[in-house]
Amino acid sequence: MSREQSLVQRARKAFQTGKSKPLEYRLHQLRCLHRFITERRRDIADALKKDLCKSDNGTELFETMSLEGEINLAVERLAEWAAPKPVEKNLLTIADEVYIQPEPLGVVLIIGAWNYPWAITLQPLVGAIAAGNAAVIKPSEVSFHSAKVMEELLPLYLDRDLYPVVTGGVSETQELLKQRFDHVFYTGSGSVGRLVMEAASRHLTPVTLELGGKSPCYIDKDCDLRVACRRITWGKFTNCGQTCIAPDYILCEASIQGKVVDGIRQTLLEFYGADPKCSADYGRIINPRHFNRVMNLMEGYTAVLGGQSDASQRYIAPTVLKDVPPHSRMMQEEIFGPVLPIVTVSDMDEAIRFVNEREKPLALYIFCSDKLAVKKMIEETTSGGVTVNDVMMHYTLSSLPFGGVGQSGMGSYHGKHTFDRLSHMRACLVRSLGMESFNLARYPPQDRQRARR
Ligand code: NAD
Repeated sequence: MSREQSLVQRARKAFQTGKSKPLEYRLHQLRCLHRFITERRRDIADALKKDLCKSDNGTELFETMSLEGEINLAVERLAEWAAPKPVEKNLLTIADEVYIQPEPLGVVLIIGAWNYPWAITLQPLVGAIAAGNAAVIKPSEVSFHSAKVMEELLPLYLDRDLYPVVTGGVSETQELLKQRFDHVFYTGSGSVGRLVMEAASRHLTPVTLELGGKSPCYIDKDCDLRVACRRITWGKFTNCGQTCIAPDYILCEASIQGKVVDGIRQTLLEFYGADPKCSADYGRIINPRHFNRVMNLMEGYTAVLGGQSDASQRYIAPTVLKDVPPHSRMMQEEIFGPVLPIVTVSDMDEAIRFVNEREKPLALYIFCSDKLAVKKMIEETTSGGVTVNDVMMHYTLSSLPFGGVGQSGMGSYHGKHTFDRLSHMRACLVRSLGMESFNLARYPPQDRQRARR
């Protein structure tokens, strides 16, 4: 028996004892997870520094704060989320109890990605614990130091049988995927997402796929370009562009392209100084493979801003490209790096067509002061989520379901959405054995019914 198989079996056995079900137990584990984050803040930040050159501020803002927020919300609302929900009755059930009872699914497999290794791997875990499940946690091997800290320290805080951490790469993940789970929650690329779904289908296991894609950012000519550029620059170049909901490219009219470039130039100076390589706030590409991938994408372009790189540090400067052809390779695959192409369009209608001709994105960003035009663009496009006059901020709201649509993913989470996603909503009808006369109409023989009429 492989290590993965025995860990999954142990998690299932532990789940079957029923210990993960009582609300008190779930709350206790959630509080332990919170304690882990508070007490091990330094270990987490150090690991992220080694993996992605993340600043302490970046760790706080993008990893631990959202995680703590999700745990606090779950602790506060768990009783309400887990309570049976009475629903409407019909005439035949008027005297009965009719309700929906959320119940745990069983053993959940969580496969995380490397770009925000803590938030992405542990946020689904918050919902899994809250919903009363066991969960096998598989952090990405690509963010090696974070995975190591997670494997070594998390079991000191959480129940080791119910919530084991499995580290390793492709072969370990594939071994895990051979096992039977009750839900697989995967975050990463679409190509691996397909493999995950295929493996899960063998056991008829439902999946949540949090994938990526090219998230467009439209800038209308009549908006405050200074503010727009500052917000876009923040979202694009945070974590060195390795954010699933970073604006992938800009769509704008040719008449404002120069001003947009100027606005980004000014903001870059403000954020990272004259040489971003020396800034403590600017990250690095995760590994040489991704460094080469982004460098290859840039080949043949002359950067209007940035363009410098240093392979020894996996450094790529914040880079902006002008007048990028709509059908170039840059515009086919997700960039996932600090390169921001600008594609010009004649107006908002062309921008809408541009978005609709491509795969449904994970996020869409619209910078525009005309409320009617904003409504039109939202109505005539689709995406996992949309933020108007800012980027990425919809992610911070636990009340909004976070997830993709079409090629950018299936299923959503955050806050109660994670709890619902990882629960079975059991339909419950509890009748009494009385008032049998009301039921006679549905029983055979037909003749007796005719006679009664
Ligand atoms: P990755 O390489 O870390 O892979 C993700 C997970 O898949 C890892 O745990 C890894 O072990 C596993 N894996 C990799 N290859 C496998 C294989 N052949 N078989 C089985 N398992 C395998 O991460 P990535 O795929 O490079 O992640 C980047 C992508 O993730 C981007 O497209 C990004 O947009 C997307 N992403 C999406 C979200 C979201 O919330 N929607 C968040 C972060 C990243």
